[in-house]
Amino acid sequence: MTEAAYLAGTEAGYERTFTATVVSRPPGAIVLDRTFFYPVGGGQPADRGWLTTSRGERVAITDVRKSGEAIVHALAKPAPGVTLPAPGERVEGEIDWARRHAHMRLHTAQHLLSALLFAQSGLRTRAAALRIPGATIDLESTWPSALPWTVVAESVGAELARARDVRIAFVRRAEWDRAPSARSGAVPLAPHVDPVRIIEIDDVDRCPCGGTHLRSTSEIGPMELSAPVPYAGGSRVGFTLRGLAAHSERVTP
Ligand SMILES: [Zn+2]
Repeated sequence: MTEAAYLAGTEAGYERTFTATVVSRPPGAIVLDRTFFYPVGGGQPADRGWLTTSRGERVAITDVRKSGEAIVHALAKPAPGVTLPAPGERVEGEIDWARRHAHMRLHTAQHLLSALLFAQSGLRTRAAALRIPGATIDLESTWPSALPWTVVAESVGAELARARDVRIAFVRRAEWDRAPSARSGAVPLAPHVDPVRIIEIDDVDRCPCGGTHLRSTSEIGPMELSAPVPYAGGSRVGFTLRGLAAHSERVTP
């Protein structure tokens, strides 16, 4: 079992380095007792980065996935002469920060945008996918023709100019089920989820999520927003964040 240390709170998303102990070494991969590397899931791509052994040897992490209770870090082919760490050895993990922070910006922007779209149209988000430098939000129905998109786009711009705190709260499942937020019901929570990890944007949104997010919406930055188009029986809204295109070129370890 791997402790998913990135889940602890908003600040855990800002941890760039950590130490951990090697638990096992499946072929081409490594399992640690704890990790801040985010495994792909919930529309958020996996982190990448590096592990450094106690001998100072460095190997790149190319992918991270959940496998049952374990989080499996896929390793790049080590350089000649590098000895991979054995179970029981201490290692230092380093997150590719440009990529992680890009995902935090995109993910927090997605929550904010999903909340604003719901507030104005009543449409809930069915799925969201992040891919640097942008993201897509799939809504459960077609966009109401009576609601001008320009009005929505202006309200999004005004909201992005504000700085709202983002917090993470853990709520008992029974408590959440008694009073879930109206916008979050399009995707039912799995039965085993308890407590529920809630991402709260001050006065705007509460939504269950296991991803990494910013501590303030002020870090999102300028957004290019595109109008909804019909998609898979509903509609799709897309956006990109400025300043991320260059980062996407630097994410490969
Ligand atoms: Zn999220």
